[in-house]
Parts: sequence; structure tokens; C-alpha cells
Amino acid sequence: MTLVTAPLLLPTYDRAPVTFERGKGVWLVAEDGRRYLDFAAGVAVVGLGHCHPAPLAAAHRQLDQLWHASNLYWTSPMVALAERLSERFGGAEAFFCNSGTEAVEAALKYARRATGRHGVLALEGSFHGRTLGALAATGQASKRTPFEPLLPDVCFARMNDADSLRAAIRPETGIILVEPIQGEGGVHVATPAFLEAAAAVADETGALLCFDEVQTGCGRTGSFFAWEHAGVPPKLVTLAKGLANGLPIGCLLVADDVAGAFVPGDHGSTFGGNPVACAAACAVCDAIDTALLANVQEQGDRLVARLAELPAVVEVRGAGLLVGVELDRPTAPLIDACRDAGLLVLSAGERVLRLTPPLIVSDAEVGLALDVLVEVLG
Ligand code: PLP
Repeated sequence: MTLVTAPLLLPTYDRAPVTFERGKGVWLVAEDGRRYLDFAAGVAVVGLGHCHPAPLAAAHRQLDQLWHASNLYWTSPMVALAERLSERFGGAEAFFCNSGTEAVEAALKYARRATGRHGVLALEGSFHGRTLGALAATGQASKRTPFEPLLPDVCFARMNDADSLRAAIRPETGIILVEPIQGEGGVHVATPAFLEAAAAVADETGALLCFDEVQTGCGRTGSFFAWEHAGVPPKLVTLAKGLANGLPIGCLLVADDVAGAFVPGDHGSTFGGNPVACAAACAVCDAIDTALLANVQEQGDRLVARLAELPAVVEVRGAGLLVGVELDRPTAPLIDACRDAGLLVLSAGERVLRLTPPLIVSDAEVGLALDVLVEVLG
């Protein structure tokens, strides 16, 4: 297998020794022809599976027509996507960008404009991205500390502890930023009661409640937005990963009742709303239907039920096809062993395995993955 070993890339990732060439559905094929069952899906991105025909055709059509015109003009895929997302949300305006961290940056700036307050209340253990604003709101000291000083007046409360949330709020807090399920932070699920409490605190204090659904959105948990399970709609939502099935896109949705705070010049992105990415994202939104969401629930339940029986497993958490398996041992060697056996999985912290397969994963593919996991964890 020929691998790139020269230091051509900054070493921001500890890459596994595999070079992938193509993918189809839940399968990836490496340079040496070896096939891998992909239960990482590009870190919860390729929801419809690799090279799904619908976004593929939509992107191809758009590539033949128009790649880029800038945000000085209108393009129809961007408008079509905003319409679909507004409908899914129940009335919202969209800002498009290129990644999750940019969507979070947009939310932080929007909340400042809308409330006139600069403070941020986020949660311990959270992950919101790598740019300086999103990093400042990330509740993991190991990621923040090397880059301090970051934004001032960012406070952290404990997940699923409404008293901690109330104690952490400040007069200057303009945004309460919550992942409905903390993905990178270990797959910790926010309870409906906690999300309700966050909405109540936001209402009482005039801060905007923002759900960071970069990882949980676009069907990953069995509903289009994860907050639908709890029935607690936020004022702001960030989306990215799964939205265009692997083409770069990010989005901030602003609920209609708090829209209108940005004026031209307040924010922007050269590539935001790119026609090819938006065309693919429209096809993704159209494919996330009741049948697909039912599959997410069914396959997720199967994984959880079987994994919970294994002796090395301390707890299985998550919703739909965002599954965290807390183990009694470090995950790193197990991830390598799974890969050697042809299964790609992720970690979320030192002792949590994370499974985020494509949402279209079949009974048979879940069975194959379980065979490997039972062998490796047994
Ligand atoms: N927010 C959440 C909840 C995420 O899980 C991530 C990435 O994992 C981000 C933000 C950052 O997204 P990106 O890597 O696209 O910038």
C-alpha cells in the first residue's frame, strides 16, 4: 500500500495508515482494493451513504450549470435549501457557510447582534469547533487551554443540571449553547427536562437558546433535528456534517420570531450557499423521509441492544445512529483492531467508542458490524 509519509500536511490529525479511493453505500474501498464497512461515515457526515445517487445527480446537474456566483446575487439551490430547512424547522431564516465551526461562529455573532450582550453560556464537555469563538465555547480545557486567551465571559454549566445552568447565567449572557447530544464529548444525551429548563432560562433572561445540531441534525438521531424528540424548539440551530452528504456546508437557522438582527455587512462567507453544495443538500433533505428515519431508529436500537450485553461495556448511550459505547478500557487499540477486521469506528474520548454509520445501513450490515464488535470486545 503506498502511503504518504512526507510531512506535506500539518499534523493536526493522527491519521490511520489507510488511503481510501472510493465508496459506495456503507462501504469504502482502499487503494489496495480492501473493503471496509464504514461505521464512521466521515465522522457522522455521509448520512445517505457514499455516492448516494440523489445528491450525486443533483451535484452533477449543478456542476454542469453553475459552480459559483457569490453572495452578491441570488442562486436558486440556496433559496430551495433555505425553504426546505425553514419548513423542517417550522419557520426560520438561514445563513449558509462551509462548516460546523463557522455555523457556530455565525450563531455567536447573531446572538450578540440580537441581544446586545456578548456573554456565552455553554456546557462542560461540549464541542463546538476549532475556530477561536467556537473553541472558546467548547467545554474541554484540553482543547481550549493551549490557545488562551479566547473570548471573555464564557461560562460553563453542567449537562443535565438545571441548577448549574441557572447559577451560571450572567446579566451579559446573550446565548445558551447546547448540543442535544454531546457527540465529541462522549455521546452524552441531554434530558428533555434539561432542554426545557434551558429554554425557560433563556426566555426568562432574554438570552437566545441555540442547539448545536452539527452532529445530531439531518436525521442522525431518528428525527430531522434531535430537539424534536424533546419537543423543545430553540431560537437558533447550527447544522453542518450530514447536510450535503459530504460536500462542505454549514448553516445557521434563526427562528422567525428572532429574525432580523443581522443587516448587510454584519456577516458573510465567499463560498457560503455554494450552488453545488446546496443542490446536494436539497437532495439530502428530500431523502430524509419517514422510512429513512424509521431505519435509523430500528438499526440504532439493534446496535444498542446487542452492545449492551457485552462484558467490556459499561454503558451504551445515544439516540438513533449516534451511538456511544462506554468501555472499561481504552478504545484506541480496539479501533485499530476493528479496522484490521474491516470495520471503521470512532472514539469520543478515551473510553467511548462512537458508531455513526450511514443512516441507510441495512440489517445485514449492522449484523456484520456486530460480529466484528463482539469479536473485538469479547
Ligand atoms: N459542533 C459540533 C456539535 C460538532 O460535533 C462539530 C464537529 O465535530 C463542530 C461543531 C465543528 O464542525 P466542523 O468540524 O465542521 O467545523
